[in-house]
Amino acid sequence: MCLEGNCRKFFDPHSLALVGVSRKPGSLGHKFLQAVRQFGYRGRVYPVHPTVPEMEGLRCYPSLEALPEVPDLAVIMVKKEQVARMLEACGKKGIHHVIIITAGFRETGDEGREREMELLKIAYRYGLRFLGPNCMGLFNTGSQIRLNASFSPTQPLPGTVAFLSQSGALAVAILEMARTLRLGFSKFVSLGNKADLTEVDFLPFLLEDPETRVVMLYQEGIERPGTFREWLYRLSCRKPVLALLAGRSQSAARAAVSHTGALTGSTEAVEALFRQCGVVSLERVQDFVETALAFSLARLPGGPRVAVITNAGGPGILTVEALERAGLQVVPFQEKTRRRLRQLLPEEAAVENPVDMIASATEITYRETLHTVLIDEQIDAVVVVIVRPPVDTTPARIAREFQTVLPSETDKPIFVVLMAHWDETAGIEAFHRLNIPVFAYPDSAARALAAMWTYARWKQQPPGKRLSYPVDQEQAARLLAGAKTSARFLSEYVAWQILQAYGFPLPAFAMVQHLEDALETFRDWNKPIVLKLLSPQIVHKSDAGVVWGNLDSEDAIRAAWERLQQVIAAHPEEWAVEGVLVQEWIPGQREWIAGVHKDARLGHVLMFGLGGVLVEVWKDVSFRVVPLSDRDAREMLREIRASKLLDGTRHLAPVKENDLVDMLLRLSQLVSDFPEISSLDLNPIMATDDGQRLAVVDVRIEIYSPEESRSNQEKGRKKKA
Ligand code: ADP
Ligand code: MG
Repeated sequence: MCLEGNCRKFFDPHSLALVGVSRKPGSLGHKFLQAVRQFGYRGRVYPVHPTVPEMEGLRCYPSLEALPEVPDLAVIMVKKEQVARMLEACGKKGIHHVIIITAGFRETGDEGREREMELLKIAYRYGLRFLGPNCMGLFNTGSQIRLNASFSPTQPLPGTVAFLSQSGALAVAILEMARTLRLGFSKFVSLGNKADLTEVDFLPFLLEDPETRVVMLYQEGIERPGTFREWLYRLSCRKPVLALLAGRSQSAARAAVSHTGALTGSTEAVEALFRQCGVVSLERVQDFVETALAFSLARLPGGPRVAVITNAGGPGILTVEALERAGLQVVPFQEKTRRRLRQLLPEEAAVENPVDMIASATEITYRETLHTVLIDEQIDAVVVVIVRPPVDTTPARIAREFQTVLPSETDKPIFVVLMAHWDETAGIEAFHRLNIPVFAYPDSAARALAAMWTYARWKQQPPGKRLSYPVDQEQAARLLAGAKTSARFLSEYVAWQILQAYGFPLPAFAMVQHLEDALETFRDWNKPIVLKLLSPQIVHKSDAGVVWGNLDSEDAIRAAWERLQQVIAAHPEEWAVEGVLVQEWIPGQREWIAGVHKDARLGHVLMFGLGGVLVEVWKDVSFRVVPLSDRDAREMLREIRASKLLDGTRHLAPVKENDLVDMLLRLSQLVSDFPEISSLDLNPIMATDDGQRLAVVDVRIEIYSPEESRSNQEKGRKKKA
């Protein structure tokens, strides 16, 4: 059953049944009825109460059955033991949309979980959809119907932001902060336990909703990641999506043997997913609200260059520093701008960026200065700092003056930092009417503007393409099928053959059992080789002393072989020796890692970064969720701190970036084709110093065993409880 199209009934119900209303002041049932009434609901309200005939001037009905019509929406807030019975009554009456406010379900343990399952069964039986349980309800300020079906103590301001929140309590706090900032909402949904409806059900509606220009998501977990990802991406292409994610500090789910597994936590995975979808991810509640304000009012910047105008030096400098810290630029003005400012401002004023108009600045000075810097082609955005001036002007008067030069004149975003008391002379609403968001602190404005620039840049770039390479998938399937029954790790030799089938750039390699064969191979190739002892028990070969490289003579090969024999002799029982891998030696100093780890929630996550035996020390890595687009791969290469190594430095020539992109995409294709791969390390991928050649010189592939996946699911379920 699909909700699409039916969201309307949740947001714009023409009639509403309230089950569990109460006359007792302070009770939930009382507050709820009051909220509906106070917000001026224009539809028909039916309070349901078994004994009371009338409440707040409204006629009450003893049961849902007794209602004179089938209401579009019912809200249930009875005791937890009675919820199932009421839901059943909704079904019988033919109500298809229900909000369950009552708590005491999955969030309380096994018994509650069972109660919740019962609700799902009823919903399924009657073909109804419900929000919650354990939620705060929803509101819709934008519509003609004026619905506030939530018990939020704060009256929402109308606006253009839709807010979906998993937590009710946090939502209350955010709605309150929003009220202080005068941030207005179009829609609000408290998702609660998400037993039936989740955010994914509402995203398609918000995409089309003309009253919503910005979407805020507070997430504690992610369900149906594939669908979620798809809708997030579609939504971001049209309107900005801001996300606040709880549970960041959670480390990787299980002790991992692969490098990629050790470095990939679920936070990295979700962050990667957000980035791929153009979602603006925020870490702090304050930024979440302030950034929403910026997006809801201001136009997107066309670039990162900001002008600062101020009536006080110190706050101006602090603002410049905050902007630069956030990754924006405060650049010099064009000559004509400086000349014009010189004419305009007193001698003591500074006409460079930041413009210090000094304390005598009036609303006229503000207006003219703003006008002058706005038409400078070097400038993409303006931050106006207002410190409560000692002279005869107020922020409200400045706002009034701004009105005469805006909005016809510019498509550049303008922010105000108002370092003054937010009283009636502050003109907050007047600025907001001009699409100028007002912030109390320089840092707030800077971070919000930077977030807008990040989003604008994401939107400007051409969307990525998902490429498919011609590979020998059947050969890889055969190899995997042959190996699956045995150990957790594929034999390295099998792994090499799989990489070969998928067209990865590899050094020449051969598996031998005898010294003579190693020598023969060397003569045959006529280039330096490396010998590696392969055994399922050896995790890190170099740590075990079984990698002997740069062997360029038969004597060197004999000596290395001899050493391998000694190492084997020192570990008589533990090691089952598969053979010795003879590999072409790739001379070069640069080493990268590319790997995949299977996240319990999001599936395969791909990692790229500085490689070699010290990856966990560098921790210089970037992530994307599989499948990758070519744009994802390109961005990954550039996101690591040491991305300059790709461009070359000193005697190292630049590498062929396209070849690395190609490799990441082949990796994405490989794990998409084989979901049973639970982790994979290509470590290292080496580049020759002349930049001409890239090759994978070490590989490890781990396969999901059914037992392990079952125990992981078990863990996942426990955590949810
Ligand atoms: P392990 O990671 O199991 O210790 P590797 O096969 O990655 O073993 O080898 C360890 C290190 O030896 C690599 O990180 C790399 O620096 C170097 N190395 C391995 N194979 C080659 C090769 N074919 N050419 C050049 N250097 C190599
Ligand atoms: Mg290695």
